[in-house]
Amino acid sequence: MKTKRCWNVKPSKIAATTVNPIRSIVDNLHINPNPDKPVISLSIGDPTVFGNLQPCDEITSAVVESVHSMQHNGYAPSSGYKHSREAVAEYAFREEAPLGPEDVILTSGCSHALEMCIVGLANPGQNILIPRPGFSIYRTIAVSMGIETKPYDLLPNLGWQIDLAHLESQIDGDTAAIVINNPSNPCGSVFSKRHLKNIVEIANRNCVPIIADEIYEDFVFRGEEFHPIATLSTHVPILSCGGLTKKFLVPGWRMGWILIHDRQGIFGKEMRDGLQALSQRIIGSNTIIQGALPSILRDTPETFFEDNIETVQRNAHLAYSILNDVPGLRPVMPKGAMYMMVGIQKSSFHAFKHDMDFVECLMTEQSVFCLPGLCFDYPNYFRIVLTVPEGLMIEACDRIKEFCTNHYTLDTPTPSYNTEMLLKTQMPLQV
Ligand SMILES: *Cc1c(COP(=O)(O)O)cnc(C)c1O
Repeated sequence: MKTKRCWNVKPSKIAATTVNPIRSIVDNLHINPNPDKPVISLSIGDPTVFGNLQPCDEITSAVVESVHSMQHNGYAPSSGYKHSREAVAEYAFREEAPLGPEDVILTSGCSHALEMCIVGLANPGQNILIPRPGFSIYRTIAVSMGIETKPYDLLPNLGWQIDLAHLESQIDGDTAAIVINNPSNPCGSVFSKRHLKNIVEIANRNCVPIIADEIYEDFVFRGEEFHPIATLSTHVPILSCGGLTKKFLVPGWRMGWILIHDRQGIFGKEMRDGLQALSQRIIGSNTIIQGALPSILRDTPETFFEDNIETVQRNAHLAYSILNDVPGLRPVMPKGAMYMMVGIQKSSFHAFKHDMDFVECLMTEQSVFCLPGLCFDYPNYFRIVLTVPEGLMIEACDRIKEFCTNHYTLDTPTPSYNTEMLLKTQMPLQV
């Protein structure tokens, strides 16, 4: 090969095809808030940004102790210290889905767990099934690795349950995994036991493993119940991804995990070795947090979780009660997680072509920012976060109401050709 004579440095294909749709969509929006109104951002999926939701003492002091112990400064095994994995196994253990430390791999946040599972199961050219609407990271990970994504629909009128027939119809010979997200971001839905069983049956019938994104485990409103999907399956091999991020309110600590549920040995040693190998790519996750894990998982009081859920549930009710009365909007009441999807009836707002226009104009006039449904592959909706302080939640929803009232147009529009014809007949013909 001839020596190069001039510089030609370009990002690799993987770098160039790694696209976070939220970033690219938000960066392309014209965001000009109304200078007379302070901005309220209902877009950020980080529960700590407003300061009203913070980790409790048991969580933070565990880290202080971990630092001072001087025991967690070196490299851990790449899948995590044994005593930390033991703590996770104990914490996630269920009678119907037993776990030991050898079934746990510690990762750098849940997104790293998801990346390892997707890349660990699918080859370039194969596909994974992902929810629509859904969290964008599944696609971001897959596409750059040459793995195709095929969406399956969630049904807003049935509390965002999966359209099971559609899910099954999307499976083909190249399907390497089904990604399930329960409780859901962006929908806030929580699947029933029965629904989860139906999903497992489809996976079983078609011999496709499940990747379960359960980062919002247990984050369900009063009266609802969270079931780890692995507790409802005896045959289907399941990789469950979780972590401290949302439930313990520490997204920046980057501590996640993969739980390997494989009671029939279908993944077998090969898959375990594969995941183990992938964990070596970053030589393991943060050891300070690993050292704190046993205390965090054992000592965090139940009241901490209950209080957080109550805050979010109260906001959900407040937001729903305001937005449900707004003509042209269709909020879908969540059952858990930290978000609510709100439908925009297109026929009610002639001024807006799509959800992007809607959220842009909402920002310009009312200084309220929400993520357009397009970020979740679901146009004509927007997502609001429910982790803001109560006063801001009410203020934001009142502003959304004012905005919609100002822009509401009659639900039964005169067909547009009438207007066009009128204009044509009144204006001199241009030749
Ligand atoms: C926040 C979130 C994650 C990412 O969690 P990290 O631990 O911060 O990587 C994964 N899945 C869903 C659905 C999320 O909302």
